[in-house]
Amino acid sequence: MTFPVVGMVGGGQLARMTHEAGIPLGVRFKLLSDTAQDSAAQVVQDVMIGDYRDLETLREFAKGCDVITFDHEHVPTEHLRALEAEGVVIRPGADALVRAQDKGVMRATLDGIAVPCPRHRIVSDPADVAAFAAEGSGFPVVLKTVRGGYDGKGVWIVRSAEEASEPFKAGVPVLAEEKVDFVRELAANVVRSPHGQAVAYPVVESIQVDGVCDTVIAPAPNLPAELSARAQQLALTIARELDVVGHLAVELFETGDGRILVNELAMRPHNSGHWTQDGAVTSQFANHLRAVLDLPLGDPRPRARWTVMTNVLGGDYPDMYFAYLHCMARDPGLKIHMYGKDVKPGRKVGHVNTYGDDLADVIERARHAADYLRGTITE
Ligand code: ADP
Repeated sequence: MTFPVVGMVGGGQLARMTHEAGIPLGVRFKLLSDTAQDSAAQVVQDVMIGDYRDLETLREFAKGCDVITFDHEHVPTEHLRALEAEGVVIRPGADALVRAQDKGVMRATLDGIAVPCPRHRIVSDPADVAAFAAEGSGFPVVLKTVRGGYDGKGVWIVRSAEEASEPFKAGVPVLAEEKVDFVRELAANVVRSPHGQAVAYPVVESIQVDGVCDTVIAPAPNLPAELSARAQQLALTIARELDVVGHLAVELFETGDGRILVNELAMRPHNSGHWTQDGAVTSQFANHLRAVLDLPLGDPRPRARWTVMTNVLGGDYPDMYFAYLHCMARDPGLKIHMYGKDVKPGRKVGHVNTYGDDLADVIERARHAADYLRGTITE
């Protein structure tokens, strides 16, 4: 046995942080990235620049890798299957990954294993959306293109059939869902290895602003122990039933009457798990690597009473470095993680983790840092 080579497809911040987690393990890391400027391509030594939609490129990339894993879910499923048929080790495998790539397939799969989800079905046109609304409690209805969405792109909330034409323009199947009247959004994150070992992180609360994750609080405040255990069990069941390998994020809606409904699955490190870098014994990135290498998994338990993660979105400043002076002087306990990405309004360019015993204080420190870096506050 020798130190293996993990290949990651996609050059975003998730690959950048997975690479970082592999350094102390001595794991060799290869990257397939669209451009040399991508977040991970800036820091990984062994980078192949190429198009993940091209099978030949993927074949070439796979040659030097012991296992292939992913920073995003956009690699065409037929390419994953072709590579697997040629003996390439892909984790998570194509059969699992397709259920996170396509929201229609995901819902059908979850129905098949009796996982509670919002009422849903594939709709064909605006008249069909009206019919779907009438079958339930009417409008508003949530429409989602089954593929290609992220950070709220590809999601519409419509109040009438007239408003429902936009999602059909892309020529991608459209999924309709009841609009859940949730009290908050949670995420249950687990990691599973090919051996079938699995670990569950504490269930977190995730706060979205304009469809983009803004803040994550670990553990979710005031979550009854029974609900927390149920959410973790649900995520572990999904990981097992779908044969997921690696990190699985299960995004959940908590309703006022004590139900939890699954919104989305992501089979890779996820924004709701960034807090684990500084707040858990083993980070989601380190555990994702261990899982895809079929190594024993690391301890998922928290290291602090509370950990809060706040995303830094692009704002007024093209370069945020000057803001470090104030942020670091004000709060030596801050953990800043920047992705090396060009600042564009609303784009995720970094995040800040804080931890401590007093939740209100931990939230205030994380928010202040993120807002100051972005430029929405100046003191
Ligand atoms: P993305 O793939 O872009 O993350 P999601 O399916 O997670 O898309 O939806 C983005 C956000 O839209 C969710 O975090 C949630 O706030 C809201 N949303 C999605 N589906 C529903 C639903 N059925 N009911 C209410 N809100 C929803």
